[in-house]
Amino acid sequence: MRWSQAFIPTLKEDPAEAEVASHKLMIRAGMLRKVAPGIHDYLPLGWRVIKRVEDIVRQEMDRTGAHELLLPANCPAELWQKSGRYDAYGPELLRYKDRSEHELVFGPTHEEVITDLVDREIKSYRELPVTLYQIQTKFRDEIRPRFGVLRAREFCMKDAYSFHVSKKSLDATYKLMYEAYHRICQRCGVDYRSVQAAGGTIGGSFTEEFMVLTERGEDSILVCECGFAGKPEMVAVKEAGTRDTGHGTRDGGPEEVATPNVHTVEEVAALLKLKPAQVVKTMLYTYGDQAIAVLVRGDHAVSEAKLAAYCQAEVTLADEQTIKKITGGPLGFSGPVGLKGVKLIADSALQAGGEVVTGANKQDAHLKGVVLARDAEVVAWEDLREAAAADTCPKCAKPLNEKRGIEVGHVFKLGIKYSKAMNANFIDQSGKEQPYIMGCYGFGVTRMVAAIIEQLHDEDGIIWPASVAPYQVVISPLNMAKPALKEAAEKIYQDLLAAGTEVLLDDRELATGAKLKDADLIGIPLRVTIGERSIKEGKVELKLRREKDAKLVAPDKAAEEAGKILEEERKKLEP
Ligand code: ATP
Ligand code: MG
Repeated sequence: MRWSQAFIPTLKEDPAEAEVASHKLMIRAGMLRKVAPGIHDYLPLGWRVIKRVEDIVRQEMDRTGAHELLLPANCPAELWQKSGRYDAYGPELLRYKDRSEHELVFGPTHEEVITDLVDREIKSYRELPVTLYQIQTKFRDEIRPRFGVLRAREFCMKDAYSFHVSKKSLDATYKLMYEAYHRICQRCGVDYRSVQAAGGTIGGSFTEEFMVLTERGEDSILVCECGFAGKPEMVAVKEAGTRDTGHGTRDGGPEEVATPNVHTVEEVAALLKLKPAQVVKTMLYTYGDQAIAVLVRGDHAVSEAKLAAYCQAEVTLADEQTIKKITGGPLGFSGPVGLKGVKLIADSALQAGGEVVTGANKQDAHLKGVVLARDAEVVAWEDLREAAAADTCPKCAKPLNEKRGIEVGHVFKLGIKYSKAMNANFIDQSGKEQPYIMGCYGFGVTRMVAAIIEQLHDEDGIIWPASVAPYQVVISPLNMAKPALKEAAEKIYQDLLAAGTEVLLDDRELATGAKLKDADLIGIPLRVTIGERSIKEGKVELKLRREKDAKLVAPDKAAEEAGKILEEERKKLEP
């Protein structure tokens, strides 16, 4: 492609609308423009990269034996009503009516549509297992679209679904998908971790997420040098012996203290001249038609994932009304002493004993001198809190490090959640109807493009890995008015095209600085620079975008040499 004829509207300045590096750079490199919040134009350079990532995803899906299809984006609401998600999904689901008043949704994901298809077409155990996938535009009416394509409302996702007769068969496909996701991330050249995710601890389901490590990621993950990585809500905590959190043990039991106008643990601690660790939070949750009270140290957070695993049900924070009904006191002043009619459990960090402060189940009042084992009816001490960097690796006991990550992919053993709700069955070997056992596997194609940039850039621009770069080589003749430079550029351009290399020839009549800046900004892996001085010596410069130093070669050897360098680059990204 000749740059003079391309549509690559680069910008010199950072756009005001963008906060994170990937968003800024996608706009500046002429890859992306905003149309409305969370809705974008993908310009040619952006689209080329999206297609590269798509190709990698497609190749890896095909390797697993999955079959590509394309489902509609506009889906009848009936299917969503059948699964129960029409009500459960909330306002992220775009709902509308057609001219005949039929309700539709714009698919944010396709479990319903695919389950319906498979239910209609695959009846016998003999035709299973099957894995189907698509690469498609999804719409989710995100409450806070931001960071460009990282959290968009319209985005490109690969979604795969597998159908099985047995748990064992699901396990086998899940493993293939899990491995495929590792290969995809490796081929995209990013530093990433796979972590077990919440939601997979109930009813035998299991789920893992693939996280690209970057400072601006929305998710917190804990990593260890031994290779272990986990989400704080999932990492098992081993208490390091007894940590005395109390402030002495007096006789006589708890004593009420007035705590007007305090709302947070920090404020209570400051008022009573204690550390937050000496205050205990009492959190009320509901699940099904039951409630449970959970105690954690003031400086810790309840892990809803661990609590859900303990309750074997999804848990929700109790609302003010429920809190009032159970404790008799208002929100913010709950405490375990005298709490009746609700199961009370505590995080193991509190088992160390000592005196603590708790809410008094009364407006503007707390209790001090509470000894939980003596004053409260704790029925179980469990690991119920989110792990933190201060904790140790559950695998090797070394200290953990906190990192941030962007979730690019998600693999999920669903079990019979959808098939049961939608009454979707196959006939088993004994002629009996059984619900399909399912898995689903989502991958954010456009999010991955931004995640790559988030990780691979410098102050000058993007640094594409060769596997996803929009072009492999950019040729930069520094002065188009000089015939010798122009001729050499043209020759190398033709040689590269003949070798099948994707090459961008910067034939624009621009100043040297502007050309080099643009080449760095759009991040093409290899640059061939043709300057007056080097051409006089019969040489041109080959420079990798990620390296400082250039290599000098004769113009007629440039294409061949470029091919070798790129081959090396691609090899490094092979799984
Ligand atoms: P998140 O927690 O980030 O909202 P999710 O759990 O809703 O993600 P899934 O439903 O598992 O995401 O979707 C599969 C993949 O689609 C995600 O791993 C992510 O890569 C991508 N994805 C989800 N929501 C968005 C979005 N708003 N913009 C871009 N990509 C998205
Ligand atoms: Mg989401």
